[in-house]
Amino acid sequence: MPITVKALQKSGPEQPFRVAAIERRDPRADDVVIDIKAAGICHSDIHTIRNEWGEAHFPLTVGHEIAGVVSAVGSDVTEWKVGDRVGVGCMVDSCGTCEECRADQEQNCLNGNVGTYNAEDVDGTITQGGYAEKVVVNERFVLRIPDAIEFDAAAPLLCAGITTYAPLRRWGAGETVDGRAKRVAVLGLGGLGHMGVQLAAAMGAEVTVLSRSLRKEQDALALGATRVLATTEENFFREHRGEFDLILNTISASIDVDRYLRLLTPRGVMAVVGLPPEKQPVGFGSLIGGNKVLAGSNIGGIAETQEMLDFCAEHGIVAKIEVIGVDEADAAYDRVVAGEVHFRAVIDTATFADAVAE
Ligand code: NAP
Ligand code: ZN
Repeated sequence: MPITVKALQKSGPEQPFRVAAIERRDPRADDVVIDIKAAGICHSDIHTIRNEWGEAHFPLTVGHEIAGVVSAVGSDVTEWKVGDRVGVGCMVDSCGTCEECRADQEQNCLNGNVGTYNAEDVDGTITQGGYAEKVVVNERFVLRIPDAIEFDAAAPLLCAGITTYAPLRRWGAGETVDGRAKRVAVLGLGGLGHMGVQLAAAMGAEVTVLSRSLRKEQDALALGATRVLATTEENFFREHRGEFDLILNTISASIDVDRYLRLLTPRGVMAVVGLPPEKQPVGFGSLIGGNKVLAGSNIGGIAETQEMLDFCAEHGIVAKIEVIGVDEADAAYDRVVAGEVHFRAVIDTATFADAVAE
């Protein structure tokens, strides 16, 4: 039997959220049913549901930072049992057989993975995300949340955590250069950025935050940054030319990429995770001069996501969050876009209890 649950839904890009009753599929033999405790608000949810990345499928529920407890398992499931503390990130299925899936890179599945929301599932339905009471997910896409991490502080790790962990590892944030720690700049101090700072610092990098202002300076230092620089200050780009070995670009809006590339050392790398709706022009001269690398990074595979969760538990890293109720999601979206959230808004799904589904 399909499972009816309350969820936050929008019927169009301009419409407010409302609480609706949606159906989760009848669990299959290899499915896990999760009672969701907390769901993070990622800027990707906003880009998607506001049609900034193209036409979304409405009515739609978003959310791909999901933490909760297993409440039922299918007959073939051996890895998970009722009561397990678990999470779900940006993917809920993939072919499992292509080269990428076999190399634990399900995010790059050659046959197309299934996104947690707004994606066509294997049965032809459109997936619905985590701003909801429950979710039904293939067991291969379930992660174990370490006991040390509370559900609400764990939820953002499932996207913001892995999205910053993977490129920091890929580009050696923890390695040394000529005997010194790598100089890593985290560009944009939002949900992703604040995870990037903590993770890069724990890996051993010397971390600088590049933010539009110094408003978040104290927070950034507490997260493990050694300094914060305001990119809007006069002479900023001239004064900090050639300083960074690695820039993790988490910015959600259009910027002048060429200017930021000049902040890199020769052979320096800008790893881009922020995905603004508009195309970003880049002059090849900015890459050719200094043999620089401009690299993209898409979340991370399931095995690496588990590695990141365990790394966070080991290093005492959690997301810094603002917990909100289901009636506060619209206001939270505006605050995310304004860069005002410190640093991730997380929906407490217990607040569905008082809401009446329309
Ligand atoms: P967020 O919490 O809104 O943070 C984005 C940060 O970008 C802001 O805090 C702000 O930093 C900076 N920013 C925003 N507008 C700006 C502007 N006009 N000029 C300069 N800086 C600006 O968003 P998020 O959830 O971290 O997501 C960041 C981006 O990553 C989004 O585009 C999202 O879709 C994308 N994303 C990608 C992946 C992936 O797999 N690659 C995964 C998840 C998310 P300051 O306030 O410090 O200036
Ligand atoms: Zn996300």
